[in-house]
Amino acid sequence: MTDAKKAQLWALPNENPTNKPEFQGGLITRPFKTMKHIDTNFFVPPENIQNGRVIFTAEESHHLAKVLRVKVDDIVTVVDGAGKAYQVVITRADKEHSRGEIRGETKAAPEPVIEFTLCLGAIKPKHLEWAWDACVQLGISRLIPLHTEYGIERIRPDGKFFDRLEIVSIRAMKQSLRAVLPEVESPKTIYDIINEKRFDHLVVADENGLPNLPAKLPKLGESVALFVGPEGGFSAEERKAIADAGGVPVSLGQRRLRAETAAIALSTIALRWTGDL
Ligand code: SAH
Repeated sequence: MTDAKKAQLWALPNENPTNKPEFQGGLITRPFKTMKHIDTNFFVPPENIQNGRVIFTAEESHHLAKVLRVKVDDIVTVVDGAGKAYQVVITRADKEHSRGEIRGETKAAPEPVIEFTLCLGAIKPKHLEWAWDACVQLGISRLIPLHTEYGIERIRPDGKFFDRLEIVSIRAMKQSLRAVLPEVESPKTIYDIINEKRFDHLVVADENGLPNLPAKLPKLGESVALFVGPEGGFSAEERKAIADAGGVPVSLGQRRLRAETAAIALSTIALRWTGDL
């Protein structure tokens, strides 16, 4: 092709054979072809979704308008962290105050049928964030950081620690297309958790544990706690307390894993166990 022909080709107006608005009924006037569908989910808490209107938080507005350069009339998926996902048309794209209108509900990734809580020994915050990010993507519903006898890291009970973990939860929820925001609870000891008797099944990652998870599966509506020790491992007393409460020790192979790797590996095999992976 000659350069003149190429130039001619590029000079042609954009082809737009259908020129139909995507939605009937008012708001949308741009033709379908010029509308962008953004392939990133946004998180908007339920209180910011009312009467079909969506008000984006400052963080999400920034991500939407500044980072992804979403424009008015573009379509995004919004999840409310409580299980709902919507198709939303942007009506205002501003890096501080973005808004949208709901066009309908849409499907999010299914939640696991069994609720899994990761009880993970205190490790360095960066490592904890990394492990939690992966576990949320896999389908874990809740994190309880553990105060343990041999935990080297102390969890500072200040707001910053939880703010960071919440940011991780939101990011991983969006990444994995989940619509339910996993919770992070304040740190507890193994004894607190056992005394609360809130879990139907306890599974603990243990280098000397059984090669497989139990053949008897959790029933619908039951909950499972997954215990993983800190860098220093669990003490003999902690191990005994879990065993006395009916906890099942499970091996993750014959290589010693870092706590964060063990958390991801245990989450993976546990979700596979219940058919949730
Ligand atoms: N020095 C510690 C090692 C801790 S590793 C010790 O000797 O116990 C951190 C945690 O990861 C452990 O407490 C355990 O829960 C888990 N883990 C590491 N490797 C594992 C393996 N091969 N199988 C099962 N759990 C493992």
